[in-house]
Amino acid sequence: MNPATELLHHARGEGYGMYINGKYSSPASGQTIPSLNPCNDEPWYTLTDAGAPDVDQAVGAARHALGHPSWSGITQTARGALLRRLGDLIAVHSDRLAEIETRDNGKLIREMRAQMTSLPQTYYYYAGMADKMTGETIPVNKRDVFNFTLREPIGVVGIIVPWNSPLYLLSSALAPCLAVGNTVVAKPAENTSASTLEFADLIAQAGFPPGVFNVITGRGETAGHALAGHPGVDKIAFTGGTDTGRRVAANAARNLVPCALELGGKSPNVVFEDADPERAANGIVAGVFAAGGQTCIAGSRCFLQETIYDQVLAKLADKADRIILGDPMDEDTQLGPLSLKSQLGKVREYVAIGLGDGGTLRTGGKQPGHPSLANGYYFEPTIFTGIRNDMRIAREEIFGPVVAVMPFSGERDLIEKANDSIYGLAAGIWTRDIDRALRFARNVDAGTVWINTYRSASFLSPFGGFKQSGYGKHNGYEGVREYSRLKNVVVDYSGSTQDPFVMKLE
Ligand code: NAD
Repeated sequence: MNPATELLHHARGEGYGMYINGKYSSPASGQTIPSLNPCNDEPWYTLTDAGAPDVDQAVGAARHALGHPSWSGITQTARGALLRRLGDLIAVHSDRLAEIETRDNGKLIREMRAQMTSLPQTYYYYAGMADKMTGETIPVNKRDVFNFTLREPIGVVGIIVPWNSPLYLLSSALAPCLAVGNTVVAKPAENTSASTLEFADLIAQAGFPPGVFNVITGRGETAGHALAGHPGVDKIAFTGGTDTGRRVAANAARNLVPCALELGGKSPNVVFEDADPERAANGIVAGVFAAGGQTCIAGSRCFLQETIYDQVLAKLADKADRIILGDPMDEDTQLGPLSLKSQLGKVREYVAIGLGDGGTLRTGGKQPGHPSLANGYYFEPTIFTGIRNDMRIAREEIFGPVVAVMPFSGERDLIEKANDSIYGLAAGIWTRDIDRALRFARNVDAGTVWINTYRSASFLSPFGGFKQSGYGKHNGYEGVREYSRLKNVVVDYSGSTQDPFVMKLE
């Protein structure tokens, strides 16, 4: 029996499957799909392949729980206490959850551990927020009228997440959803569902009533599609690719269901001549080679000022060549495999496109030759030069360890190039000139701007992209706004009778 199955059997004593109304259950169709370990291409776990009837059941459970007194009848402070308990349980189980995620997506164990050990903070923050979400009293232009707002749950929220950081990305929507009093149906990616199923058990242990959190597993085009278009869902939180996001939003729009869309990126990471070259080269590595470039915020377009182009490029190439590829469970490994075979194929294809369009490989560009890595989805850190911003390799999201390095002359040239993209998720700048850094922050089209740092995030900082990187915000108080609705209540205590044929404009 594989470790995750063992864990779930151990946890529930009743097998594994989707998680609906507080119970693990099998799909109506009995279909399953394997989850492959990206280190060796072998199945290590079997998932249930949910269809529309399973989604129906999960949404029904969430809707029932929404109006059940065990959830709708408890106070905000009590909801906060549940979230706090959940945070404590995540802290206890963080090692186990990190291990499951590394096995599923091939990301470094130290990265996944860092994500899991910080995850409780998200739940503690929203635990504290649960009873601090206040409405307002708004004085209107009339005496004897009491006018106020109420912040309410939206209802049933469908949360669809990708494979690169399953619980971290789930939680940025889930924690505020629960703090506000919504109920949730989550759909993790088909190759990384194990940690979310494990997490469901922690939700139950924390004391959340059945049906408040449900998990359906399976493929995007079936289970995900059924969830996004379900008439019983009130909001969709989607994190994933831009093309998928477009389909999800169109599907949800048939029911006029709003979405929060956290989509792809092609973020610029910029180095000016006055930057510390060592720090900057390190920041470029962090931006695009960490996590194998499989992050939405990857700094995959690197702009170097002409005067320091050769110097910083040489440093970057040297750092790339020294990156240690290996088993992501090994603490010394710096670059694990890509998460999916299809992802490996995509990266190879983009290297061919880059070369075909006239780019030059400074380093990398192929799978590593070492026999111990032969069966995994490994790819060398890859640096392209000779790239123009209009080439596909500089415009399209690759989601792999590939960076397109381009020169720029000055600030104006740089901003034009940086903003010449359909995306607007993140941007980084390396400079000692604070005036220039702040001008860049103001002028660049990006939801997050890093100055002399890259790939840092906080549960307190609003996160979400512009342009085709999506819309909506997660983290901090923005999460509460995103997953609540505002109601206006007007009380006339004047005792007067109004003209029934004239609208009262106060
Ligand atoms: P994806 O869009 O293929 O899949 C994401 C999720 O959507 C999966 O759970 C999948 O099963 C589901 N899905 C697929 N088709 C669907 C459909 N038609 N209807 C409903 N659900 C569907 O993305 P991926 O390849 O798993 O993840 C990589 C992408 O995610 C990249 O583009 C990356 O930039 C993006 N991403 C964005 C953020 C962010 O916060 N902006 C964070 C992480 C990843």
